[in-house]
Amino acid sequence: MKIHNFSAGPCILPQDVFQQASKAVLDFNGLSILEISHRSKDFVAVMEKAQSLALEHLGLTNKGYKALFLGGGASMQFLMTAYNLLEKKAAYLNTGTWSDKAIKEAKAFGDIIEVASSKDANYNFIPKDYQVPTDADYFHITSNNTIFGTQLKTVPQVNIPLVCDMSSDIFSRQLDFTKFDLIYAGAQKNMGPAGATLVIVKEDLLGKVTRHIPSMLNYQTHISKDSMFNTPPVFPIYVSMLTLEWLKNNGGIDAIEKANNEKAALIYGEIDRNELFQGFAAVEDRSNMNATFSLKDEAHKEAFDNLWNAANISGLNGHRSVGGYRASMYNALPLESVQVLVDVMKELEKKA
Ligand code: PMP
Repeated sequence: MKIHNFSAGPCILPQDVFQQASKAVLDFNGLSILEISHRSKDFVAVMEKAQSLALEHLGLTNKGYKALFLGGGASMQFLMTAYNLLEKKAAYLNTGTWSDKAIKEAKAFGDIIEVASSKDANYNFIPKDYQVPTDADYFHITSNNTIFGTQLKTVPQVNIPLVCDMSSDIFSRQLDFTKFDLIYAGAQKNMGPAGATLVIVKEDLLGKVTRHIPSMLNYQTHISKDSMFNTPPVFPIYVSMLTLEWLKNNGGIDAIEKANNEKAALIYGEIDRNELFQGFAAVEDRSNMNATFSLKDEAHKEAFDNLWNAANISGLNGHRSVGGYRASMYNALPLESVQVLVDVMKELEKKA
């Protein structure tokens, strides 16, 4: 029975990756991937491949960047970025719950200038008119706001280092990634299972703060040990490598971006056409990864919920801070699943 998985993360990954990953649990190199040493030759090769594929997909090979696979989730990066980069003051764009949490963590390390916020509008848009102080140590943005379904469509032009939480849209679209000095992303959307966090950092950004940084929280420690300072999350990194290979074999970011645009056009087209529904996010800021919407009249809720459940759709309920529905359409979600959802929305219209 096929289940259409619209979950916000952890989420759907390519079926091929599930097949290969499960094979490796039983037999990776004679041993299970779960029982080999992270320092074994075969795993070192996995780590190197995952790092080089991540940089290659983003067009950052040989451009002074390092790719690290760390533990602690994207949430750890809220504090690690500040620990490593914030000397006096930093600028943040507050576009959602995750930006807000990043700001909260960074406040322990210096002055935080919130250049703009859409908090008062429950983050249903991306603020655009703001000034970034030129003397800040860095500017932090969140490229895709998973909960609210908004996405930055362009990379802000700044003349200070740009730090980006790309957890929920990394590897989904082309951007000029050289404009970023540090990118971080929890694996559990477009890259792999929960448990690994990708950090891509421009090396010349580091070593500029005067405070002592504990070894485990210091990017330079992890760079100097090629992401093997301590035992890295071996299996999540292996599955991330498989997903990055899958992406490469399927035409890379260029091809996946086209597919993602098609999926987004299909769902937003129906949200706008169907009188029973309304979108949550400002149209120009709509995320291609997470489409947030609701019924205009809650009286249809039971009928709609029954219909999508009967269609084997899973993970469609909105986050509690937004309500309604959220269709997360990460790289591995096929267009066919979005079509099933759209058909259900049309069926509700016929019945209403
Ligand atoms: N940033 C964004 C944009 C997210 O969507 C999430 C989690 N969904 C996080 C940060 C936090 O990630 P983690 O749970 O890996 O700490």
